[in-house]
Amino acid sequence: MLDTTYGLISRVAKTLNLDENHVAGLTSANQEHIFKIYLKNGQAFPAYRVQHSNKLGPYKGGIRFHPEVSLEEVRALAIMMSLKTAAMGLPLGGGKGGITVDPKSLSSAQLEELSRAYVRHLQPHIGPDKDIPAPDVNTDPVIIDWMVDEYQRLTGDVSTASFTGKSLSAGGSKGRDAATGRGGVIALAKLLQLQGSNGAKLTYAVEGFGNVGSYFAIVAKQQQPGWKLVAASDSSAAVYSTTGLDAKGLANFKSAGGRFVDYKKAGVEIISHSQLLALEVDALVLAALGDSLNSSNYRQVKAKFIVELANGPVSLEALDYLQAKGVVILPDLVANAGGVVVSYLEWLQNKKGQNWPESKVNTSLKIYMVKAVEDLYKTATFYKVPLKEAAFINALKVLTK
Ligand code: NAD
Repeated sequence: MLDTTYGLISRVAKTLNLDENHVAGLTSANQEHIFKIYLKNGQAFPAYRVQHSNKLGPYKGGIRFHPEVSLEEVRALAIMMSLKTAAMGLPLGGGKGGITVDPKSLSSAQLEELSRAYVRHLQPHIGPDKDIPAPDVNTDPVIIDWMVDEYQRLTGDVSTASFTGKSLSAGGSKGRDAATGRGGVIALAKLLQLQGSNGAKLTYAVEGFGNVGSYFAIVAKQQQPGWKLVAASDSSAAVYSTTGLDAKGLANFKSAGGRFVDYKKAGVEIISHSQLLALEVDALVLAALGDSLNSSNYRQVKAKFIVELANGPVSLEALDYLQAKGVVILPDLVANAGGVVVSYLEWLQNKKGQNWPESKVNTSLKIYMVKAVEDLYKTATFYKVPLKEAAFINALKVLTK
């Protein structure tokens, strides 16, 4: 992911005639906090917060709890956040955090101890006008609520604007759960409209039917009657039906703890991850992991559109191959930005002491998403580059001004 990000930055820097100093400035972070958290039982966990850029506003970005979290991954994700907030026109910078931990190996009390210790270490460097962390992989509103509480205890700040992604009762925003998936639907629909094919029938497969992937399918079902979900995967396997899958039914199955490998319904076939990626669908929605399309599988892809809902799901080599074949890739910097847009709206509500209805949140989200796709399309047309590079051009223009 880091290679893809650096590769695209240096490619786009040439298009924009940016000198080496600019590129070096973009690829290095303002500050990196690298530390260890010790639990009372003696266990130690490496922890990070990379504050990449605050040129446009306070650092913004999630905190990931995962056994494979590394400084390199956090750095890549922090740069991508700076690029994303810039491409979306938000007054925020970019950062990212993480702890190298398998959260499933800890009790709830230990998870709370870990989360609070993370905040205690970072407290002087974060806050509503400095750095506003949020949830990411394996961190949820429960964890964020502990973090906000710890921050309040240490600083006396009761605005709750120090973190976003809180539960509704602790100052979270309505509409945040569905925001990334919803934003993806708005972005794809707008792109199709700009290409003159809006309203046409479209079949699609979702890799990674978690929060983002399932909300994409649920919102698509409500708003796009011509779109048909034919396949969806989780880490166990994929489900496939040519007559269409029930998005809500699949989401209920997943939230009850089901695994697709065990899914049983007439007309639904269980297929492998690689079979899903090779399906004859109009759109492939990637909502699982980074680098999911790579040198081992990109030649099998038959979709005409790829929607990057995960961060960096297509490697640079795969991007070049697919784009040369005419596949349209809706880039992560815009496609999955619904989450950070609504995080920004949550922060605004907290700062103003307001609590917006979901309709107001969704209307604002749509305005940001539509504008970003229009800007992307304009830039791609002007520079005659794919949308992925256009997103980097739009971001770099703002960040190097
Ligand atoms: P999640 O944990 O809720 O869902 C991820 C899903 O992917 C799970 O269903 C998991 O079983 C599945 N999965 C894992 N490995 C897989 C594999 N090899 N093949 C198929 N499926 C696999 O996470 P999420 O919040 O939905 O996030 C998904 C992606 O979107 C992540 O890359 C995340 O960084 C990115 N993202 C999330 C948000 C957000 O608001 N949640 C915002 C921007 C980007």
